[in-house]
Amino acid sequence: MNTYNRFPLCITRGKGARLWNDSGEMFVDAFAGVAVVNLGHSHPKVVSAIKKQVALLTHVSNWVYNDVQNAFAEKLVSACPRGLEKVFLCNSGAEANEGAFKLARKKTGKKKIVACVDAFHGRTFGALSLTWKQRYKEPFQPLAPGVAHVAYGDAEEIRKEIDNETAAVWVEPVLGEGGVLVPPDGFLKQVREICDEKEVLLVLDEVQTGIGRTGKMFACQHEGVVPDVICIAKALANGLPVGAVVSTEETANAFGPGDHGSTFAGGPVVCAAGLATLNEMEHGGWARKAGEAGEAMRSKLHKTLDGNKAVREIRGLGLLNGVELEQNLDARTVCERMLEQHVIATPVSHNTVRLTPPLVISKPLVEKVVEALENAVY
Ligand SMILES: *Cc1c(COP(=O)(O)O)cnc(C)c1O
Repeated sequence: MNTYNRFPLCITRGKGARLWNDSGEMFVDAFAGVAVVNLGHSHPKVVSAIKKQVALLTHVSNWVYNDVQNAFAEKLVSACPRGLEKVFLCNSGAEANEGAFKLARKKTGKKKIVACVDAFHGRTFGALSLTWKQRYKEPFQPLAPGVAHVAYGDAEEIRKEIDNETAAVWVEPVLGEGGVLVPPDGFLKQVREICDEKEVLLVLDEVQTGIGRTGKMFACQHEGVVPDVICIAKALANGLPVGAVVSTEETANAFGPGDHGSTFAGGPVVCAAGLATLNEMEHGGWARKAGEAGEAMRSKLHKTLDGNKAVREIRGLGLLNGVELEQNLDARTVCERMLEQHVIATPVSHNTVRLTPPLVISKPLVEKVVEALENAVY
């Protein structure tokens, strides 16, 4: 079905931060398949974990335990902020938000959610209800009632919107699809304090910011904030479909058998990929390296684009970066011009070119990305 506005490009293989098309031409990947392939394409450790597992056991369902799911869930808890210790596995970011939505309602018995302007939480009905963009929602009404959106980055706005019917506050630590918007320092910490004071749950959607993308394993760790519930997906298994809802034991206890579930979730193969991904994230120090590479990328972007009349703002955290353009130049056009130079990047909201390469991208390739962008901004 015609649901994607695709680039005219057919990819047949990848290695690290490089991709090749069906005529053998090489492209630099500044996208990572929507911030998913954080360890790079065809990472040898992830590939070998998948190969080994697929031959041993592919699927058993959650009617029984499987050893790899246990190992992966344990590893995931150890990578999460301390206090988050119960895991529900699913298959995508939208599903992680759906699961957290049900959990928040079940835990509190309340229906109202305070979310943010420009937020993106997924395309299924619950996740879509939490999402901001009217264009995504309008044709599919009615959605879940009770979601209020307040300005992003202003904790006082959140405080004002919370009432006795509020179950949870829903926040992305950095808005990804919403245009790579980084909130002011201290925002998450303030939101945490407000949620404690008002006794509502804090749900962080780290689907895009998680797994090292912003320079920490999870973006909330920049401010030492621990949410009640965290939603994870995208890079969790370096390209295989895995999502997770991780919460405190107290919140998780609201769910009992039958409250939620999934046939495929937590399957041995995707869990083997997830386990290998988390191990390599840790051993390779990739979160810290992403922080350093991100600073280098932004400083190079400033060097080449500051003063350019078509560029409005350069912003980001770690390797989640955006270059907002002035209204007279369309971000999609700029991305098409970058593609002509064999660099893959995509537009997001606020007329912004998003740069989210694999965290393993080398310095020369970062320079190539910035040069392609420079050449495309006219
Ligand atoms: C991509 C994304 C989602 C949705 O994930 P899917 O796997 O596409 O369902 C949810 N929240 C955030 C913050 C995202 O970036």
